[in-house]
Amino acid sequence: MVNPKQASIDPEAKAALREKYLLERDKRLRTDGNNQYVEIKHGFEQFLTDPHTPITERASVTDHVTFTFIGGGFAGLVTGARLKEQGITDVRVVEKGGDFGGTWYWNRYPGARCDSESHTYNFTFSKEIFENWSWPERYSKQDVILEYLNYVVEKLSLKKDMLFDNKVIKAHFDEKSSLWNIKTDKDKTFSCKYLISAVGCLSAANIPKINGLNKFKGNWYHTGKWPHTGVDFKNKRVAQIGVGSTGIQLAPEIAKSAKKLSIFQRSPNFSICLLYTSDAADE
Ligand SMILES: Cc1cc2nc3c(=O)[nH]c(=O)nc-3n(C[C@H](O)[C@H](O)[C@H](O)COP(=O)(O)OP(=O)(O)OC[C@H]3O[C@@H](n4cnc5c(N)ncnc54)[C@H](O)[C@@H]3O)c2cc1C
Repeated sequence: MVNPKQASIDPEAKAALREKYLLERDKRLRTDGNNQYVEIKHGFEQFLTDPHTPITERASVTDHVTFTFIGGGFAGLVTGARLKEQGITDVRVVEKGGDFGGTWYWNRYPGARCDSESHTYNFTFSKEIFENWSWPERYSKQDVILEYLNYVVEKLSLKKDMLFDNKVIKAHFDEKSSLWNIKTDKDKTFSCKYLISAVGCLSAANIPKINGLNKFKGNWYHTGKWPHTGVDFKNKRVAQIGVGSTGIQLAPEIAKSAKKLSIFQRSPNFSICLLYTSDAADE
């Protein structure tokens, strides 16, 4: 319960606080928008490839399917599964990564876990799937979320409908045939009646425009493209840029072994304690 006496703030302090928040807000409202990031091409080739799964060449695809989803994350998988449930079998999920999982496939930095309670990730449309899975922790680690998706994909035999290592680079709607013509970066072309974008909002790695970054001689990493072999920070001097939800998860993990960790923070974030327990999620 809030004590009304404690809640009353001195008007001057209140105005100063408001001013402070407005200043931080202005720092975030950048007029350069997406131009604050560099395009991942020359000088940043290490981010063009999937660090987790070697590319498998697949036979060419030049057929027709009823539904195509771009993106093999939760959205593409769950909607694809629901369609199959309704008896629609020719559903194709096209994914630029080497496997399914989306966010939970790409983000493998130390400390990565969800910050909504694990059960919110449950697919509830299948009683069997729902009842035969229990989350070991209240806020699950990335690998457990991926394990859960693997369980769903196996149960519903979804993998055979997925086209991995293929980035959709063109989608053209042909008015005459009322069909979409899809092209991927691996030269796969096919048509579909319904095209659904399930590309998520956090699947593209943003590289900040920092002068000389591409010439930096030390090792540097992006949380969304973390090397699958992991990174050994023992006795290293480490600088971390950013303290959003990812940075907050990452810093304590790096600090465990690094010689020194310096964190660069543009604007502070409000964050509440995870109150982490490893109790079963359903307790
Ligand atoms: C570290 C982290 C923690 C998060 N924690 C939470 C949480 O606790 N709770 C919560 O609700 N949300 C959380 N999120 C948000 C998370 O993104 C969503 O929960 C959810 O997983 C998004 O699923 P999605 O299928 O919409 O998109 P994504 O998982 O992003 O999947 C989109 C897929 O589309 C693929 N793709 C993109 N463009 C193309 C293209 N042109 N061709 C082919 N494939 C393409 C990408 O490779 C990607 O695999 C978190 C995000 C991150 C990064």
